[in-house]
Amino acid sequence: MVQKKKIVEIMEYLEKLFPNPDPELHFDNEFQCLVAVILSAQCTDKRVNEVTAKLFKDYPDSVSLGALSQGELEKLIYSTGFYHNKAKNLLALCKILNEEYNGQVPRDPEVLETLPGVGRKTANVVSSACFGANRLGVDTHVFRVTNRLGLVDAKTPLEVERQWNEKYPEYVNHDSHFRLVLFGRYHCKAQSPKCADCELRHICKFYQDNTKK
Ligand code: SF4
Repeated sequence: MVQKKKIVEIMEYLEKLFPNPDPELHFDNEFQCLVAVILSAQCTDKRVNEVTAKLFKDYPDSVSLGALSQGELEKLIYSTGFYHNKAKNLLALCKILNEEYNGQVPRDPEVLETLPGVGRKTANVVSSACFGANRLGVDTHVFRVTNRLGLVDAKTPLEVERQWNEKYPEYVNHDSHFRLVLFGRYHCKAQSPKCADCELRHICKFYQDNTKK
């Protein structure tokens, strides 16, 4: 019951901070969403948006993007880092989408996860952002924030997802996911969390542990 009160208070605060949470990546369709999330690995959303603004203008779908050579695609996505593997995965992904899915992105996150370059987090984020699936994508921000607040006690992203699904099924949705991401990105930052301005200090495990005398 105490935990129930805590999650409600936390999610109400996050809703107050981020009333209309949305992905910060730019895309116009499901395929572009998938590509943008893949490119965002180890890269900022700002940089990905700079790259995809040009990329999607000329190569908006799996047919046009999939017709590029490895070298051509590497040059276009170079600045997102890990460009060799990202290009390799994107070309393999386009081939499968074109040959097996008529160029469409599968809706089922379990199927998405089988595609090249698509891990569990990416599958969950895309299925939630594009298809309204109730899935929690656990990125570095969600992992840190949920542990710091003491909502989960997890060592891996998969553990966070499992514990979250079990304890807070009513908050396994698009808005909760993006609010946690935005809270981690702008408020409860990795290096310098804004604890002085945070209304969750009284229930935050991290804050309590680090201010004990
Ligand atoms: S009190 Fe600090 S560590 Fe805790 S949630 Fe707020 S910003 Fe993050």
